[in-house]
Amino acid sequence: MILGGQLSTAKGLDYAISHAAQHGLSTIQVFSRSPVGGQSKPLPKTGTVTGWLEEAHIRPFFVHAPYFVNPAATEPLAHQRARQVLSEEMIRVKRLHGDYLVLHPGHQQEKPIEESLNALTQTIRDILKKPGFVLIENASGQGREIGANLDELANLFLCLGRLRRVGFLLDTAHAMAFGYSLQKADDVSRFFELVDQKIGLSRLKGIHLNDTMYPVGSRRDRHAHLLTGVLQTDGLERLLRIAYESNFPIILETPGKDMDARSGDVQVIRQLTDGWV
Ligand SMILES: [Zn+2]
Repeated sequence: MILGGQLSTAKGLDYAISHAAQHGLSTIQVFSRSPVGGQSKPLPKTGTVTGWLEEAHIRPFFVHAPYFVNPAATEPLAHQRARQVLSEEMIRVKRLHGDYLVLHPGHQQEKPIEESLNALTQTIRDILKKPGFVLIENASGQGREIGANLDELANLFLCLGRLRRVGFLLDTAHAMAFGYSLQKADDVSRFFELVDQKIGLSRLKGIHLNDTMYPVGSRRDRHAHLLTGVLQTDGLERLLRIAYESNFPIILETPGKDMDARSGDVQVIRQLTDGWV
């Protein structure tokens, strides 16, 4: 099981990596800069991060894109800004020896949805002029968020010409908030069949494994600790089984900034997967 978590880098990336290793994790996700804006901090010297990752046996390494730009912006200045910031982010991911840049699809502005999807396609094409791999994460559909619906995402992949350096990252809390139930084992199996049909499971490069606080279809994005929200034990077990058998890395984004706050989630996972390895 490739298990990891979203970690704060407030004490440094080296601290976050060793914290993950101490908790027995094999993958992590971080923000390379504040997700809500402000000056980006200088990166560690080229080459140092790869040593830390190797020593801690951490791979893949996910870097989450900041939220303060809207990759689906149709307004020209905002569109340009998103392209610029996210292109820079691609370079930062490379310098950090990250494997993937995780991108939320963004928000619809005043224009019709097709124009937002078109803007998003252009942004992704543009940032892929830089080396690296982009993962598009399904949204919860809260507010004016786009990319919650698998049909919309399938359409996006089609518009991108199924570029090789684009993949999909599944957030279970967002899927449930939008209306795809993952509560029971059968729901989970059906949902993965749907992902395979619409996007292709070969494109799935990771799972943000989170429970959600509000009912399925509420369109409210509030992550919850595993089995404290709407997820049921057999649904979670099926999710873990699929991730385990297909080697999909799991990132916990349940409440808290580090793994001490998520020790309950890790315990639930360890219990359900006891004897699998
Ligand atoms: Zn997520």
